[in-house]
Amino acid sequence: MSDTPPQPVFRSGAIADPRLPRPDYPMQEQPYPGLATKMDPLPDHGETSYRGTGRLKGKRALITGGDSGIGAAAAIAFAREGADVAITYLPDEQPDADVIVQAIRDSGQNAVAIPGDLRDEDFCKQLVESAVSQLGGLDILVNNAGRQQFCERLEDLTTEDFDATMKVNVYAPFWVTRAALPHMGNGGSIIITSSVQAFSGSAHLFDYAQTKAANVAFAQSLAKQVAPRGIRVNAVCPGPYWTALQISGGQPTEKAAEHGATQPLGRAGQPVEIAPIYVLLASDEGSYITGEFFGSVGGGGL
Ligand code: NAD
Ligand code: MG
Repeated sequence: MSDTPPQPVFRSGAIADPRLPRPDYPMQEQPYPGLATKMDPLPDHGETSYRGTGRLKGKRALITGGDSGIGAAAAIAFAREGADVAITYLPDEQPDADVIVQAIRDSGQNAVAIPGDLRDEDFCKQLVESAVSQLGGLDILVNNAGRQQFCERLEDLTTEDFDATMKVNVYAPFWVTRAALPHMGNGGSIIITSSVQAFSGSAHLFDYAQTKAANVAFAQSLAKQVAPRGIRVNAVCPGPYWTALQISGGQPTEKAAEHGATQPLGRAGQPVEIAPIYVLLASDEGSYITGEFFGSVGGGGL
């Protein structure tokens, strides 16, 4: 870690050059799950840059992993678009969650914070009940929480690790969505955060890549099942984004520092840059979009 305090690399609302800014990412490592508030530079979740136009006015959203990274950017964007937002995260991530809760409230919206471990089926049920009662209903569910821990050799991948990745990335979206569906009706939107890894798994992400392929299938299958109820389901497939996931065991330390450098745009994305996809999929403007997956990869494609 460098001695200088972390600085944000805020992107402006109007971006003239998508190659910029291309900040230095000093080598850094944190224990899983990592804190965005301790990263250098700080990720841009849209705190000062995302401007809403009322596209989610009156809607109520639950976002898993909404304390940091892509989920936090979606949370801020949803609030700026007029939605009330509940976020869930691990108890250790309270410092990050406090920042995002404040940003939601500063946007004039109701914020609900529900810490817990999504590997626990009972917590997934309680989470939905608590979010629904505190928000007064549920229109948007974003299954975004994810676990990515790299492992170079299959022989070294423990059953505990494999199981934890499956629990967070595959079981939790099932448990949370099963609990949420009875509360969702016509006009509802379910979004799942998959990855470019769904289509071309990296050698060191054997377990993670499989879960992300499952996330795409989740959207494609469930979309068909719930379309007759007026509920849409889509997947978002990010490429390299600058988030805590990458510097807390998601990549080897030296790779995390170069995250995104090989993409045609030459850099990692900032979480705020993917938020507009979540807003479109959550909004009524996206009414004919379901069963799809959307990339934001920096030029490398899905
Ligand atoms: P992040 O670390 O900021 O967010 C992931 C969140 O998942 C954490 O904040 C944490 O709250 C939550 N989480 C993890 N384990 C949990 C558990 N057991 N119980 C409850 N919550 C738990 O990183 P991010 O990159 O914003 O990740 C969000 C999603 O984006 C993930 O699904 C990830 O797989 C996906 N993704 C990220 C990238 C990238 O380059 N950052 C690329 C492709 C896909
Ligand atoms: Mg986090």
